[in-house]
Amino acid sequence: MGRFIDVYDRLYEAYGPQGWWPLLKEDRDGFRCLYVPENSIKELNRQERFEICVGAILTQNTNWNNAERALVSLAASGILDPESLASMEPEEIADHIKSSGYYNQKAKKLNLFARFCLGNPPPDRKLFLSQWGLGPETVDDMLLYAYNQPVFVIDAYTIRLFSRLGLCDAGIAYHDLQDEIMSHLEADTLLFKEYHALIDRHAKEHCSKKPSCAGCPLESMCAHVRLNNGT
Ligand code: SF4
Repeated sequence: MGRFIDVYDRLYEAYGPQGWWPLLKEDRDGFRCLYVPENSIKELNRQERFEICVGAILTQNTNWNNAERALVSLAASGILDPESLASMEPEEIADHIKSSGYYNQKAKKLNLFARFCLGNPPPDRKLFLSQWGLGPETVDDMLLYAYNQPVFVIDAYTIRLFSRLGLCDAGIAYHDLQDEIMSHLEADTLLFKEYHALIDRHAKEHCSKKPSCAGCPLESMCAHVRLNNGT
C-alpha cells in the first residue's frame, strides 16, 4: 500500500468526503448538480447511470461548470435519456450543449452512446472503449461512478500530482500509472471514487499549474518541495 494510501489519507483528512459524482436535482429554481456523500454509496438507477455517463462525455476537454450547464439544458428540455438522445439528430442535440465546447463532436458522441445504451450493455471496459469518442478517462469515469466498477481514473491532475510527489514520471502513460496505482491499493470502489475526487479538489486548492505549497497536506512528502528547497 505505502505512499499511495498515505497520500489518500492525508487528502481525506484535509478535505473530507467529496460527494462525487454530482447528480442533478430539480427544485423550484430548476435543475442543478449536487455533491452529496450519499452519491458515492447509493444504488443508482438506470437514469442516474445514464446521467453520469452523459456528464463524463460533456466534461471532456472542459471544466465541470461548462459541462453542468449543458447537462442542465438537456434535463430541462426533457431529453436526458437514452431514448430521446438516440432518436435525435446530432445537430439538434448540439443546440443544447454548446456551453460544453466541441459541441458538434459531443452531440455525435451522445447520440451514438445513447444508441449503445439502448442495448443495456454490460459494464465491460473493452466494450465501452470500442465506442466512438470514448477514451480511457471517460470510460473509467463511467465504470467507476455510474457502474460501481473498481477502476482508478487517471486524468491530467493525477499525473501532475503524482509526478510532483515523485511517484511517477510526468510523461507516464495512462495505463502505466493506472496499473501502478491499482497494484498498490485494494480494489475498493468507494476508495477509488473518493481518491479521484480528492485529487481534483487538491488540484484546485493547492496543486494547480503553479502550485501553492504552503499549507499543502502533502508538503512533507513532496519531491517538488524537496527539489525547490535543494534538500
Ligand atoms: S507540496 Fe506543492 S507540489 Fe507538492 S503536492 Fe502540495 S501543492 Fe503540489
